[in-house]
Amino acid sequence: MRLQYGPAEESFRRELTGWLDANLPPAEVLSRPKLSSADIQPWGRAWQRALFDAGWLVPGWPPELGGRNASPVEQMIYFEEMSRRQIPRSLNPQGLGIIAPSIRDYGTPAQQEQFLLPTLRAEIAWCLGMSEPGAGSDLASLRTRAVIDGDEFVVNGQKVWTSGAHHADWCLCFVRTNTEVPKHKGISALIIDMKTPGVEARPFPELTEPDFMDFNEVFFTDARVPRANLLGEIDAGWPITQGSLAHERAMLWIDYAFSLDRATEALIELGAEPGANGHRIGDDAVYRDQVATTAIDAQALMCMGYRGFSKFMAGKSAPEHSLLKLFGSESVQNALAVGVDALGPPGLDRNRLGPQMWREGAWLTQWMRSFGGTIPGGTSEIQRNIIAERVLGLPRR
Ligand SMILES: Cc1cc2nc3c(=O)[nH]c(=O)nc-3n(C[C@H](O)[C@H](O)[C@H](O)COP(=O)(O)OP(=O)(O)OC[C@H]3O[C@@H](n4cnc5c(N)ncnc54)[C@H](O)[C@@H]3O)c2cc1C
Repeated sequence: MRLQYGPAEESFRRELTGWLDANLPPAEVLSRPKLSSADIQPWGRAWQRALFDAGWLVPGWPPELGGRNASPVEQMIYFEEMSRRQIPRSLNPQGLGIIAPSIRDYGTPAQQEQFLLPTLRAEIAWCLGMSEPGAGSDLASLRTRAVIDGDEFVVNGQKVWTSGAHHADWCLCFVRTNTEVPKHKGISALIIDMKTPGVEARPFPELTEPDFMDFNEVFFTDARVPRANLLGEIDAGWPITQGSLAHERAMLWIDYAFSLDRATEALIELGAEPGANGHRIGDDAVYRDQVATTAIDAQALMCMGYRGFSKFMAGKSAPEHSLLKLFGSESVQNALAVGVDALGPPGLDRNRLGPQMWREGAWLTQWMRSFGGTIPGGTSEIQRNIIAERVLGLPRR
């Protein structure tokens, strides 16, 4: 299912695809392994800079910020093309997708000058310091403390799950600056230089991929941060946390929808292979039923995404947006589980390549990686709470 667009919008698509055809790095470059989500390799810097210079990095923004003032429909077309072709816009997605919009929304002119353009041009890499031991879903319970001392904040505490912290230059870090008020009213956002004495990032390995180490614990011990690095007002960091996550979620469903399309194709191909009992995998009626479910989920996700977008364009509220991340991330996970399950013991072989989702990998690796989609930016359980309370109007427990 694809939305029908008018001639002007299709000409926008042609301009984009023409530019991509002429400038996109070769596939072997795009698929080079990277060490973390803040490991911006030289080719990634050059690619993001090329997108910025051509106005294709954030098309909805003005030209001086890497865009072309594209309309919402044009932005939709842009994300369709980038997702369909699996083109990374940045090797530091949290920097481009979460932190740059937050600095644009809340930063002072000096902060925009110092941080926004270098982020957009991939000159600096970021990590996002939100989660702590004891403060993940309940982010407002965070305890990393920042106390004002002259022109500086003194920061003490610990973050965890901080993606790419060991390769990041800067951290957008949420800290407690007031303990006397309700907990979400005492949080501030600080921009912290990762080279500051007293800041220590300790990466730890993941089960998913032994060679890709993204997660970190980050410890702050009397780390001194200039007051000028406060983003937004003091004690007013909570709306920034909410805005940051909204930026992250807005167009995610398109990625999920195209991933499900790819998963369906891969499952169909897998159906032609011999299964554990000697018959073709696709001879099994249950398997065929599961593949059909994946195909239907992909279409349902597209329909729901476009319906939400149409309502947004008509100025109506769109509860679909609350459902898309939940449905998309869980459908992808279910589809990958079908492949791993159908393969039987060979499904545990990490060399057995599965569908190309976000990066290449075995069925097993892709499936394990897919759990990552159901956790950050609000776990599936939290999404269900939101849908129950805010969309369906059920009473809070
Ligand atoms: C791939 C990945 C990348 C990440 N990157 C970052 C990053 O860069 N920076 C960062 O700060 N964090 C990051 N995180 C952390 C992520 O934000 C947290 O894992 C997430 O917010 C959940 O918090 P938690 O792990 O503390 O789990 P908890 O909040 O302790 O939850 C544990 C379980 O309890 C359930 N639960 C909790 N509260 C409720 C409730 N009220 N009702 C029902 N069920 C509930 C949850 O759904 C979950 O199943 C990342 C996580 C992943 C998986």
